[in-house]
Order: sequence, then structure tokens, then C-alpha cells
Amino acid sequence: MTLMRFKALETAQSRTPVKVEFPSPKISDYYGMNVFGESAMRQFLGKEAIKAINDAKNEGLKIDRNMADVIATGMKQWSMSKGATHYSHWFQPLTGATAEKHDAFFEPIDVTSSMERFSGNALVQQEPDASSFPSGGLRNTFEARGYTAWDPSSPAFVIGRTLCIPTIFVSYTGEALDFKAPLLKSLHFMDTAATAVCKLFDKNVDKVTTSLGIEQEYFLIDEALYYARPDLMLTGRTLMGYSSAKGQQLEDHYFGSIPDRVMAYMADMETEALKLGIPLKTRHNEVAPGQFECAPQFEEANLAVDHNQLLMDVMEKVARRHHFKVLLHEKPFAGINGSGKHNNWSLITSTGVNLLSPGKTPLNNLQFLTFFINTIKAVDDHADLMRASIASASNQYRLGANEAPPSIISIFIGTQLSNVLESFENSLSNSEDNTGGSIHVNKIPEILMDNTDRNRTSPFAFTGNKFEFRAVGSQANCSSPMIVLNTIVADRLKQFKAEVDSKVQAGQNQEEAIVEILRRYVKESKKVIFEGNGYSDEWAEEAARRGLSNIKDVPTALHVYTSEKSKKVFGENNILNERELEARYEILLEDFVKKVQIESRVLGDMANTYIIPAAISFQNKIADFATNMKNLGLPEEDYKVALDALKESASHVSTIKTAVYKMVEERKVANNLPNTEEKADAYSQKVKQYFDVIRKHSDKLERIVEDAQWPLPKYRELLFVK
Ligand code: ADP
Ligand code: MG
Repeated sequence: MTLMRFKALETAQSRTPVKVEFPSPKISDYYGMNVFGESAMRQFLGKEAIKAINDAKNEGLKIDRNMADVIATGMKQWSMSKGATHYSHWFQPLTGATAEKHDAFFEPIDVTSSMERFSGNALVQQEPDASSFPSGGLRNTFEARGYTAWDPSSPAFVIGRTLCIPTIFVSYTGEALDFKAPLLKSLHFMDTAATAVCKLFDKNVDKVTTSLGIEQEYFLIDEALYYARPDLMLTGRTLMGYSSAKGQQLEDHYFGSIPDRVMAYMADMETEALKLGIPLKTRHNEVAPGQFECAPQFEEANLAVDHNQLLMDVMEKVARRHHFKVLLHEKPFAGINGSGKHNNWSLITSTGVNLLSPGKTPLNNLQFLTFFINTIKAVDDHADLMRASIASASNQYRLGANEAPPSIISIFIGTQLSNVLESFENSLSNSEDNTGGSIHVNKIPEILMDNTDRNRTSPFAFTGNKFEFRAVGSQANCSSPMIVLNTIVADRLKQFKAEVDSKVQAGQNQEEAIVEILRRYVKESKKVIFEGNGYSDEWAEEAARRGLSNIKDVPTALHVYTSEKSKKVFGENNILNERELEARYEILLEDFVKKVQIESRVLGDMANTYIIPAAISFQNKIADFATNMKNLGLPEEDYKVALDALKESASHVSTIKTAVYKMVEERKVANNLPNTEEKADAYSQKVKQYFDVIRKHSDKLERIVEDAQWPLPKYRELLFVK
């Protein structure tokens, strides 16, 4: 009987590119066509309704029920013109995926007549039966009361025949059960704090928006090969597999020409995304074979996050037409690059100034330095919270592995800005002005950015006019790191403003006060700045000397969410209260336990039902051969190689058997522990340690068992997508 592996390979190799239909040759003809944006609103809503939406979006004003009815009717008509029959509140529960529950517009009047209806109430609020979403104890399951509420700052869109309305998801008592609610709070907090600081420099600024551009890395593999690997199907990554002789060492894939079948997929996927208003602009091959990246133009952060969540769905859906599987897992393959989701983050004023763009005049530079240095200090003060925000069962295999940022949070700023900060820090003590304690703002050097100054090894890098958080996992919901980053930076800005105010009230010149405070911040936080190779072992040692933490273990990383310091920064600024933080911690730990538990079970099953049987039939074959040789009366030296191979294989089999047995025992112990925290520790420390042992010996077997008998598609077959 032919192994499934070979059938799958045959299928994969016979594929040809799928022909893609474009709605029009010009992207601008169809960009945003399925979004209830400006032009759709103008067509289907009156001036007052549009104003109500914009006021809600820009100033957080409430939309009254009558107006909601008007808007709902317009939305319904627009979406029906796009073929919609249903509507759905679209939300982001803490499972990480997006959720939707569809209701029909259709309402029967009697058995033969009906009408399409969509009320303001249905637009504004829904109560999905959401009892199965994680709530970390915030909501009793039997109550099942979670509400979704419309987020007018993110436009509704049509997918298939459904009108989707972006919403937050909160409990009956108002606690957040999702990613969006705290993200919106953190963005509002950032607006308030940053605007107040901007007013020190320019009274005309009345709003600051957080901008976010999310680069998305992913792997593509043929669907047939995917279905021949239970580990990929059930865990999203390969739990075993000997590395291909040719991997990424030649670096011939990076930015190389895109294979035809992949190109067709990308064009198709982009078209669907563009119709939904996701402004995809960039596509290329990534470093590892089979790995690719796409990136949109940056947008307001809430919209950017929604678009990224939507994009991941679109990527998976469109892949089906092309017989591909998109792997969004952070580390689908050991030994080669994993995938991340670089979060390019900046702050932009209502007057159109990018606050992280160095200015031309010294005063503009002081404003730039204010935001730049406050960000550095915030990240240094809350490095562990930044680490917590990217911790997950899947990202743990990437961080600190091949070409991925380490678990140490540090900041790269480039040679030029390092020099600027150094002279800025020292000018007071070195300059002649020192005696009077005065500093001239004019002395702040002009900053000319060198965009080629890049460091790919840093988890948090300044890249000319924005910071780039590179440690975020490829399948993560970016709200998580953005909630943390916005909160800690806004909190720092708030304190900075208070410090400036008190110095000015005490009679100090404002610019002097600003410079003095910033100088202190540089001194206090420069230990987090690192310009060298973040992948090197020396950095881990150096970081330890500097007192920076290097948290490798997921439960330990997540624990930081519940520290007094975290509770303070989130609580005081009304982003997440203590109960919400405890609940999130519980949910994230549970998610970690479940993921490791599933991996452990799949690994055990695969070892027992794929690897060991393959090795045993290989051993039988050799044993037969050796017996025949012996019966023929040939000397042992003539079949010694066979006997050695037999022994080697048998020894791997027995090591795997023992490890699987011990792993199962550890799992039983872990499952009986009384609370999630202990369970998570047990899974992280006791259960997971067997993964490497089982994998190592299975991979050794893969190298000795006859290729024709090996049951699982090999790395070389999975990675080089045609
Ligand atoms: P690279 O891979 O060199 O970092 P990309 O072009 O792949 O560059 O991605 C850069 C991302 O950063 C894009 O999404 C881009 O829109 C975004 N970006 C550029 N300027 C800003 C900004 N001011 N704020 C936020 N994101 C930005
Ligand atoms: Mg980048």
C-alpha cells in the first residue's frame, strides 16, 4: 500500500497556479468596495447621521437610539446592495480568533409575506449566547451574559452575504471580555496624555492618534502535505522532522522571485483584502523557504488591529481555493526562521506631525526627543510587561530561537541617535553653561536620520520615524502588545507633564525644565538601549550584568500581569482593573496549558502510531536479512552493519517509548493539580521537557529508516513550495 505521504507528494507536485479574477485592472476601482466607509455613507445616510458617526468616532460622543435607527437602516440598505442577507456583531474574544454570530435581516410577517429589518438596537448592542468564550471567572457560565456593543470608530463591512459590525465584548457588569475594549481605552488615554504634552510645544494640537503598521509573516504549504501531518493539522507546527539538508543557509529565498502558484495566491488574497479596505501594499519572500510576508500601509491603531484580524481570516479562506494551507504559527519548523508580526508604532498629531519623526529645527527636535525618550523610559520601566504582552505557547518556540528576537526586551536606536542621546545627557555637566545650570535648546543637534541603520536582531527598534516591536507573534492579536505599549507610554507622558508643570510653577523656564527631566530619564533608562547583536550569547550575559530580565518561561512571563506595578499602571489609568487583569492572566494561562496539553497528546500519539511502527518494520526487515545471512552460514562480519542498525533503531524506539510513558505520567499529575497556575508550571517545567527528547530520537530514526517507509512528509518536501 502506498503511504499517504507519497500520495500527498504526488498531488502537491501536480498542482498548477489557479487563475485569478480581478474586479478591475485598477485597484482604486475596488479598494474598500465592501466597506461602509465615507462614500457609502454619503450615498446611504444623511448629513446628520454621518456627523453622529464621526462625532462618536472622533470625540467618543454617544449616538442616540433614533439616530441609531437611521444609521441601521442606511447600513442595511447599503449591505443589501452588496448582497447581504444577514448581519453579525464581529468581536475579538480572548481566544485570539474573531467571533461572529449571524442573524437574518429577514422577518416573516405571515407564511407568505416577510420583510428585511435591521433596527438601531440590533446595531448598537447584542447579547450573543457566548457562554463558551473564556471569561476567567468574570462571568458565570450559567448566566452567559456577555454583551457586544458597536464600535463606530471601525467601519462595518460585508463578507460573503453578511454585514459585519465591529464590536467590543463586555460582561454584564461592564468588564472587558475581549481585546478591543481595553485597546480603545488605551488609545483614548494616549490621546489625552500625548495631547497635553504636545501643548507644551504647540497649542494648536487637539488630538493625538496612535498609528500602527503591521507586517505579517506566514508560511505556505500544500494542503495535501498538510493533511498528511497530524501535528500541523492539530497544533499548527511540526512536532518532529529532521531538518532538510538545504534550508535557509543559502539565503536564496529572501526577496527572491515569488513562485507562480504563490503569486496567484497572493494576488487573489490581496484583492479580497483590498475590497475590505485593508490597504495591503507590500509582498515578498521571507528568509526561510516557504515563508512570505505582506504589509499594509499603516492606519489608526484600532483599525489596523481589526484589519489584521480580518486579514488573517482572508488569508486562510483564500488559501483553500489555491490548495494551500497558511501557517500562521510562530514556529512551524524547527531550525529555520519563525514568523512574527512587526508592529510599527508611532504617534501623529491633529496638525499632521509624526511625533517620532526628528524635526528640522531644535525646538521641533525637543518635541521629538520628548516623545522618543519618554517611550524609551516607559519600555525600560515596564520591560516585563512588554514581555508579558507577547508571551504565548506558540511564540515561546520562536523567541530566542533562529533569527528571532531574544526574550530580553531591549531597544535599538541606531548610531546617530545614540550619539544624540549621549551628547544630550552629558551637555549639562560638560558644557560651560553648567555654572548657571542653564541649557540652550539651540544646542540640541539637528537629527538627520539614516534609514539604512537597521538592526534586525532587536525586539524593539527605532526605524527612522517609528518604533517597531518585532517580538510580537505572527498569530497574535496585536491589541495585546498595543494595550501595554500605549498604556505605559501614556502613563509616562502623564507623569512627565506633571513634572514639567511643577518645575514651571516653581519658576523654572519650560524648555529648561523639559531638558532637565529628559536628561534624567536618559540616565535612568539607557541600560535598555542595546545596539549590538541581539541573537548572540554575549548579549544574554551583558543583559544580565545590566540587570535586564530574560524571561524564557511563558507562565513566569504572564505572571507579570498581576504584579502590583502592573495593577497600578493599568488601574490608575482605567485601562484594566484588578479583576480584569486577574481574569486575563487566568485565561492566558489556561490557553497555555491547553496548547501544551494538545501538543503533548499529539506528539505521544504520533510517536506510538507513526514513528515506532515505522522503526519496527524497518527493524524486522533487517532482522530477516540478518537471519538469512546467518542461515546461509555467512560470517557475522558480513551482516554486522545490519545488526548495528538494528540495535541503534531499537535503542531510539525504547528511549521514545520511555519518554512518552513518562510524559503521560507527568500529564496525569499536572491535570490533577488544583489550580491553573500550578498546572501551567507543571506543563511548562515537567511535561514539555519530553518534547525535545522524543523529537530528537524520532529525528534520528528519520535518518536511518528507509525513505520509502517513512510515514510523514519530510521537511524538504514541506518547505520548498512549488
Ligand atoms: P520594513 O520591512 O523595512 O520594516 P515594510 O514596508 O515592510 O518595512 O513595513 C513598514 C511598515 O511600517 C508599513 O506597514 C508602514 O506603513 C509602517 N509605517 C510607516 N510609517 C509609519 C508610522 N509613522 N507609524 C506607523 N507605522 C508606520
Ligand atoms: Mg519592518
